[in-house]
Amino acid sequence: MAERAWAIIVHGGAKAIAPGQEQRHREGCLRALAIGRSILQRGGRALDAAEQAVRALEDDPTFNAGYGSVLNAEGAVECDAAIMDGKTLAVGAVAAVRTLRHPISVAAAMLPERPVLLVGDGAEAFARAKGAETCAPGDLIVETTGDPGCDTVGCVALDLTGDIAAATSTGGLTGAHAGRVGDSPLPGCGLYADNLTGGVSLSGEGERLIQTTLAARLMQALETLPPGAAIAEALRHLSRVGGEAGLIVIDAKGRIDWDHNSAQFAVAYARAGQPPRAFVDRRQDLQEQNP
Ligand code: ASP
Repeated sequence: MAERAWAIIVHGGAKAIAPGQEQRHREGCLRALAIGRSILQRGGRALDAAEQAVRALEDDPTFNAGYGSVLNAEGAVECDAAIMDGKTLAVGAVAAVRTLRHPISVAAAMLPERPVLLVGDGAEAFARAKGAETCAPGDLIVETTGDPGCDTVGCVALDLTGDIAAATSTGGLTGAHAGRVGDSPLPGCGLYADNLTGGVSLSGEGERLIQTTLAARLMQALETLPPGAAIAEALRHLSRVGGEAGLIVIDAKGRIDWDHNSAQFAVAYARAGQPPRAFVDRRQDLQEQNP
């Protein structure tokens, strides 16, 4: 049997990155990647690597998730997050939460629970019952990130046992209606993981990703296509309704890929035996690195 190898990819959102902020995005992704990578290298679980990498991205005000989330139409932060276990197909998700320091960890605490998704006050009460770290609503607001177009974060990880996990966390869209929930906490829309096929995490215009169940489309394409071709197929499907997206993938064979139709999409990845790499614009960066 072929030797198993770990792999991990993180993203910092599909968007136009403000000029001069590109390095900050690369470095933020690399810092989060390093946390997930060290868990996988030690033989840790894909679920833990994905959760911890996304926690680091939630902590980084460069990105629109957790601390540094964008404001909705009421001037409040509302976060959504989900994590999926490709071994059991368990999903944990929270949405429209205002006082959770790490929405992804509350989503992870939901994994063994019967409900898949809790929203608003119910999700916050669950978090408190589990002893999760909470904060005042205003504590997640960062006055200036220098990057008003910021977006969702995510991670896909494959561990040495062959388990795959996917995680997505977001502050949603700037100026969105209070209570609006996008694709990020919805399996089949903003993420999916199945050990038999692979794992995916998406960013983009949530309404369009929901209309096209884009993560499900991508997973379906992965059943017969390599990751790059599967992503192209998903982006073609998205073009029926329009909208921007960025997609990351690790398939069951450990193949990593990503792409975006947004101006930029900050990504970092690593696998056993290969050093980490980071990108903010797939076509431009690949051209510069392999002229
Ligand atoms: N997909 C997220 C949402 O619609 C935000 C984003 O990735 O742009 O809430």
